[in-house]
Amino acid sequence: MNVTKKILLALIAGSIIGVILNLLEFSSYSYYFYVDSFLLTIGNLFISSLKMLVVPVVFTSLVCGVSGLGEISNLGRIGIKSIIFYIFTTCIAVTLALIVAYIVQPGLNAGLITTSEINISKAPSISEVLVNIIPSNPIKAMSDGNMLQIIFFSMIFGISIALLGKKAENINNGMIALNNIILKMVELVMYFAPYGVFCLLTRTFYSQGIDTIINLGSYFITVIFVLFLHLILTYSSLLLFIGRLSPFKFFKKIRTTMIFAFSTASSAATIPVTLKSVEEKLGVDKSVTSFTVPLGATINMDGTAIMQGVATIFIANAYGISLSMSDFLSVIIVATLASIGTAGVPGVGLIMLTMVLNQVGLPVEGIAMIIGIDRLLDMIRTAVNVAGDATISCIIGKSEKKFSLSLFNK
Ligand code: ASP
Repeated sequence: MNVTKKILLALIAGSIIGVILNLLEFSSYSYYFYVDSFLLTIGNLFISSLKMLVVPVVFTSLVCGVSGLGEISNLGRIGIKSIIFYIFTTCIAVTLALIVAYIVQPGLNAGLITTSEINISKAPSISEVLVNIIPSNPIKAMSDGNMLQIIFFSMIFGISIALLGKKAENINNGMIALNNIILKMVELVMYFAPYGVFCLLTRTFYSQGIDTIINLGSYFITVIFVLFLHLILTYSSLLLFIGRLSPFKFFKKIRTTMIFAFSTASSAATIPVTLKSVEEKLGVDKSVTSFTVPLGATINMDGTAIMQGVATIFIANAYGISLSMSDFLSVIIVATLASIGTAGVPGVGLIMLTMVLNQVGLPVEGIAMIIGIDRLLDMIRTAVNVAGDATISCIIGKSEKKFSLSLFNK
């Protein structure tokens, strides 16, 4: 059985066993010790081994990608195009979420208001995010895993190698070898993935009560429905009409990466796997993916924006507050910005939701209602976030003629 099939099997088995354990309601100490802490340990080992590779893979890929790009002006074009596409798809995502949620009206008369205290830290402002792109200390940026700063430093490093030409040839060759080594390490971690995925999913489904999902059924189903709609409608149309690529082949090849994103609930931790599959399976050249994938994992969060759109209407309904047309427009703009500012780690989308709620004058405490089921939705929306990064990488790669159609179709 190949790794992809094993990972798929682990996903299904983990989910089923997790649900069964939850229904059986085991809670004895020995049970906790053997099952819960065992699953947690293996799951965390898996996530840490992925995270370990994120900074090295982004740095070496970007340096190699940029220095091998030929014309430096290409970089500016790729940058502008990807940012425009990323923002465009996110706007569509929130708009879809608002339209569907407006029709479904989740949470209407649900009587769900809770008085429980909620501690949500303040979201950083967009200008703070922008000003911080240039690292005053690149080593600190790497140790903090600050993706935009790492992207900035790696790009300048790669550009300088390209400008120096022969004088920096040794370092250039060294970076290419280093990049190959890191990609080999990603492959090794992927062999371990089925066990990691199994443990993470068993534990999540075990700790996620089915009751909480049923109580918030309308919200839960609306978010999932829009996430699928966005995958099928937006990404497939972009691939088909702009990229002239088969969405069916695309989703088949990106399946494993989406499972990684689903299991870890982190676009950032998935970067090594996304980079590898977009290059090796979808056929996009490193000079494009090395930029579009880490940037996408940092600023492109369509799934998160969808959750924020639906959650806004849900919370408004639960509190009996009606939103005007201009409120909807504000939600589109702010949710797009909030999702750009969302870091690719678990649960941050919910924190950034405060920005959207504040903007339209909704009570931030409303988040307490949906926090209980956010982990599962976080996993699904992260898979959509990562699929979005891969879609845009293919479109940009194709438009820049840095794309291997034969590899994509293989
Ligand atoms: N977990 C999401 C991601 O990493 C972000 C979020 O919506 O919380 O893409």
